Amino acid sequence: MGKITGFMEHERIEEGYKPVDERVKHYKEFVVGLNTEQAKVQGARCMDCGTPFCNSGCPVNNIIPDFNDLVYRNDWQNAFAVLDSTNNFPEFTGRICPAPCEAACVLNVNDDAVGIKSLEHAIIDRAWDEGWVAPRVAKHKTGKKVAVVGSGPAGMAAAQQLARAGHDVTLFEKNDRIGGLLRYGIPDFKMEKSHIDRRVEQMKAEGVVFRTGVIVGAAKDPLGKGSKVTNLAKETVTPEQLQKEFDAVLLTGGAEQSRDLPVPGRDLDGIHFAMEFLPQQNRVNAGDKVKGQLRADGKHVIVIGGGDTGSDCVGTSNRHGAVSVTQFELMPQPPEEENRPLTWPYWPIKLRTSSSHEEGCEREFAISTKEFIGEKGKVTGLKTVRVEWKDGRMQEVPGSEQVLKADLVLLAMGFVSPVANVLDAFGVEKDARGNARATVDFIGGYATNVPKVFAAGDIRRGQSLVVWAIREGRQAARSVDEFLMGFSDLPR
Ligand SMILES: Cc1cc2nc3c(=O)[nH]c(=O)nc-3n(C[C@H](O)[C@H](O)[C@H](O)COP(=O)(O)OP(=O)(O)OC[C@H]3O[C@@H](n4cnc5c(N)ncnc54)[C@H](O)[C@@H]3O)c2cc1C
Ligand code: SF4
Repeated sequence: MGKITGFMEHERIEEGYKPVDERVKHYKEFVVGLNTEQAKVQGARCMDCGTPFCNSGCPVNNIIPDFNDLVYRNDWQNAFAVLDSTNNFPEFTGRICPAPCEAACVLNVNDDAVGIKSLEHAIIDRAWDEGWVAPRVAKHKTGKKVAVVGSGPAGMAAAQQLARAGHDVTLFEKNDRIGGLLRYGIPDFKMEKSHIDRRVEQMKAEGVVFRTGVIVGAAKDPLGKGSKVTNLAKETVTPEQLQKEFDAVLLTGGAEQSRDLPVPGRDLDGIHFAMEFLPQQNRVNAGDKVKGQLRADGKHVIVIGGGDTGSDCVGTSNRHGAVSVTQFELMPQPPEEENRPLTWPYWPIKLRTSSSHEEGCEREFAISTKEFIGEKGKVTGLKTVRVEWKDGRMQEVPGSEQVLKADLVLLAMGFVSPVANVLDAFGVEKDARGNARATVDFIGGYATNVPKVFAAGDIRRGQSLVVWAIREGRQAARSVDEFLMGFSDLPR
């Protein structure tokens, strides 16, 4: 519970950022984590509220009050043990989770929430530094073989849990490196990729076999309709091969079908999905040569889409040296402060300004793109119109049309569904949104209609968050273990 009067004595301490002019020159992380004394004060603010809503606000149900208290008492090793008991990869979430736990913190009703994410970050970084994060090799092998398809946070969490339960796990990934969107998508300045690499080493020591450059079930449009991303897979494996060779198959292929903007001029050069742009920079940072890399240097960039992906395009464009960066959002500007009595303990809608926005960006709200304009086949601008929302319906504001200059347009309007063909190849039923249909029931959850085939993460729930992917990976692992063994000791 931290210190009994801590929440009255101490203000919330925020993690720091390196200065903008310094950090935009590189792609390294720039968050300055809490030091030991600051972490102790942060932990002291946890107030023994009795019903810790943070614990259920966190999708992996981190046991937050306990690690807050342990940090306050300077017992970091046990704080790590508590954190590790619910979250396979706190170094991912401690960096890039939007922290729904903090929205649910009881102190957030009328004060600033405990800085839970900053404590998670501090605990796991210290655990790695101290050598407390070690492989946990299963004592007994079951002789059962499990294939996991897709190596994002859902696939990684599931593979780790299943290997720890004693199964022989092979993780198939179509890309050349492990990590899913953590590797190719999320910029290095938000999360450096060495964090994935050392988990891969840990998982190898626990017995997980990684097979990169292998696409499962691909035929037409393996990377989604309209995608210009190169298929780097060198090998194709069919569902029949997996079903024959393995006792269970878990699909964790993500929701990779980007939402398009099919307005006139969409075919002009210089208009790209965010996922054609961001992964190239990840590759360059990893030391790869990317021929004809999409770059924003010297360009007027317009990012269409006001979410995380859009914000990542803003940060990357500024690092490239864009002349101007503008981000469009269809919805009206939300309020700076949420109405807490109305929204607590749920995730509130409010204006969120990311570190990338702070680095330089014009933000336009309630704006829609009617047409892309170009010369000699290249985009030069966008014809836009202001919109307003009445009774949940969008209406154009008459006379508000405008033309804005753009040399590079990045479409970051989210993802509509998984790439259909992997589900079709297995014969997995889809829900109305095109996601794999599977429940999250305590017994039999994550199972699809196809015998011994399961699905978890964005491929099942649709575009979501890293922490939800970890939760689904863990829960699906328990379900698969139960299916194989008749019972499971894995935590859910
Ligand atoms: C640019 C961007 C920024 C984001 N930022 C954040 C953030 O800051 N915080 C946050 O919490 N979430 C963020 N997200 C969302 C988050 O990354 C995802 O919700 C999460 O990664 C989903 O995990 P997953 O394991 O289900 O799928 P993914 O991470 O998408 O991984 C799926 C993997 O499966 C592989 N695969 C797919 N099909 C096949 C096949 N047929 N054969 C073999 N392999 C296959 C893919 O190559 C991929 O590696 C962001 C997303 C994007 C795009
Ligand atoms: S994983 Fe996210 S929601 Fe859970 S404690 Fe960490 S920051 Fe909070």
